[in-house]
Amino acid sequence: MEIKKILFATDFSECSSNSLPYAVDFARRYGAKLYLVHVLYDIANTSGSYVPHFSLDELYKDMEKNAKAELGKCFIEEMRACKDVEYVVLKGTPYEEISRFAEENKIDLIIIGTHGRKGLDRMLFGSTAEQVVRHAHCPVLTVRLPKYA
Ligand code: AMP
Repeated sequence: MEIKKILFATDFSECSSNSLPYAVDFARRYGAKLYLVHVLYDIANTSGSYVPHFSLDELYKDMEKNAKAELGKCFIEEMRACKDVEYVVLKGTPYEEISRFAEENKIDLIIIGTHGRKGLDRMLFGSTAEQVVRHAHCPVLTVRLPKYA
């Protein structure tokens, strides 16, 4: 088995941060490249009302810049252990973007939290995690926060 590329998906929640050590450890053991991926929700898809494109474009530029900075800042300590890291900000529906990016970039393993920002609101399994497991072309490691066990 070869694991050359690992995708770690984060919404900056406690549960996804809890799964980062697994991503770092796998990356180190296999000498794999680690992609830290955050997906910005596409407001145009969710809002029923008209939003002018120019203002959305500006907003997304800002959000993308902030998300990239956040990825670098949040995980600065953990990333010292990894040689090859790429920070990726995508836009759209998280499970679709994560699965699409994984396939297009020939990712070998996806690591994701069982829950996101809403924690136990979604009782057993968060919907992003569930949908990624269903749609991803490669194995997916889901990591549960101990307090949700
Ligand atoms: P959820 O299904 O939203 O409860 O989230 C489960 C896991 O999916 C989180 O712990 C993250 O690892 C991942 N995730 C959720 N939303 C996003 C997002 N917008 N970008 C990247 N990963 C996400």
